Amino acid sequence: MTTPDPVVPVPDPARLDAVVNLCKRRGFVFPSAEIYGGIRSTYDWGPLGALMLRNVREAWWRSMIQERDDVVQIDAAILTNPKVWEASGHLATFTDPLVDCRSCKERWRADEIGDACPNCGSHDLTEARPFNLMFKTFVGPVEEDAAVAYLRPETAQGMFVNFLSVMQTTRKRPPFGIAQIGRSFRNEITPGNFVFRTREFEQMEMEYFVPPDEGHKWFEYWCNERLGWYRAYGVPDHMLRLRQHRVEELSHYSSGTADVEFLFPWGWGELEGIANRTDYDLNAHSKASGVKLEYFDQVSGEHYVPHAIEPAAGLTRTAMAFLLAAYDEDVVAGEKRTVLRLHPRIAPYQVAVLPLSKKETLTPLAREVLHCLQRRFVCEYDETQAIGRRYRRQDEIGTPYCVTVDFDSLEDRAVTIRERDSTNQVRVPIEDVARQLTERLDA
Ligand code: ATP
Repeated sequence: MTTPDPVVPVPDPARLDAVVNLCKRRGFVFPSAEIYGGIRSTYDWGPLGALMLRNVREAWWRSMIQERDDVVQIDAAILTNPKVWEASGHLATFTDPLVDCRSCKERWRADEIGDACPNCGSHDLTEARPFNLMFKTFVGPVEEDAAVAYLRPETAQGMFVNFLSVMQTTRKRPPFGIAQIGRSFRNEITPGNFVFRTREFEQMEMEYFVPPDEGHKWFEYWCNERLGWYRAYGVPDHMLRLRQHRVEELSHYSSGTADVEFLFPWGWGELEGIANRTDYDLNAHSKASGVKLEYFDQVSGEHYVPHAIEPAAGLTRTAMAFLLAAYDEDVVAGEKRTVLRLHPRIAPYQVAVLPLSKKETLTPLAREVLHCLQRRFVCEYDETQAIGRRYRRQDEIGTPYCVTVDFDSLEDRAVTIRERDSTNQVRVPIEDVARQLTERLDA
C-alpha cells in the first residue's frame, strides 16, 4: 500500500519565500499582532486566508460527512474535565524531549537535532528531559484556589468521551464515525516553518468505530480514502506519499499508523496521521470513568468494545500545502505572471466580477451580475486599474474565473468568462452565466 518515493526531496527555500511573501502581500496570512512586533511563530489568517480555511474545512466536511451516511459531527469543548487527559495518557506521556544549549541558551527538541546546537554549534547541551506539550490554565477567578484545566492538544478525545451519547442519540452502530473540526493547542518547543508548526492550530479528525476483527480492513480503507482526497483537491502525485510507520515508531495506543506526507520545500512532512488506535481509548475511559463504553450487538447478543480508526488531519498545515502545491509562475502574452493554481473549490474566491471600466453606465449591469452570482459563489468585485492588471491580481490569488462586463454587454446582455489557468475567454449570455460556472466548478 505504501507509495514508493516518487522523487528525492530537493530543498526549495525560494518557493517557501515566494509563498510566504504572497500570503502577506495579498492578505492570506499575517504575522500575529504585527503592530506590536508580532509574537514568535504565531499568525493571523487574513481575509483571503480565512476564506481558504473555510473552503478546506468545507471540502473535508463534504467528503467525510455530507457524502456519507455513517459519520456524524460533534463540536466538543476545548476546556474539558482534566480527567480526560489523565485517562487518555496525555498528562503522563504527551511530551517531547527538551534540551537546552548551555552556550547560547536556545531550546531544542532532542529528537530533531544531533549532538550539536543548530544555532551556535556548541556540544554543551543539557540532558534531555520530558516536556509536556499541553497548555495549562486555571478555571475560576482566584488562581491559587482554581482548578487546573488544559487546552485540548487534539480534538480526538471529544469523540471518545461522547461515544455513548452519540451512539444512543443517533442510533448508529459500528462501523460508524464521529468527526470534529476545531482548534487544538500544543506548547511546541520548536514551532516554525511558517504555519507548518504553530502552537495554536486547527484539526480535522474522525474516529471510525468498527468491530474488532475489522480494524485492519478499515485502516487500509481510510488510508486510501484520505490519500485520494488530497489528490482530488489538486496535490500532484510527486508531492504526495503515504508512509507506513515502522513498529518502533508506533504510539503506545496504535497497532498500525501511516502518514500522508507532502513534499514541503525542506523535505517530506506529515499532513495527516491515520492510526488504528484499537480499543485503547474506549477502554482507558471506561476504566477511568467507571462507565462501560461498549456496543451491544443485538444480532449476536454480544457486548464488545469497538476499535477506532483515526484519520487526523491538520487544517492549517493542509492549507499551507495547498498553497505551496498551487504556486506557479508562467508567461502570458510575453509577460511573467504569478498564478495560484488552486482547486476551484479551495480558492478564496470562485469568481471575480470585473466591469471593463468604472464608468457609471456599466456599474448597474455589473452589480446586477455580481448579485446574481453572489447567491451561489464567493465573489470579488473589482473596478480599479486596467483590466489586464486586474486579471493578474486574480491569477495571483487563485480565482478560477473572471467575469468581465463590457460596453457590448449593455447591448447583447452577454459577458466574458476568463479561465485562470488557460486564460481562455468565452462569451456567455448573462442569464446563463451562473449555470455555466456551476457546471465548471462541479466538473
Ligand atoms: P508532528 O509529528 O508534525 O508533530 P503529530 O504526529 O504530533 O505531528 P498528530 O498528533 O497526528 O500530529 O496530529 C494530526 C495532524 O495535526 C498532523 O498531521 C498535523 O497536520 C496537525 N498538527 C499537529 N501538530 C501541529 C502543529 N503544531 N501545527 C500545525 N498543525 C499541527
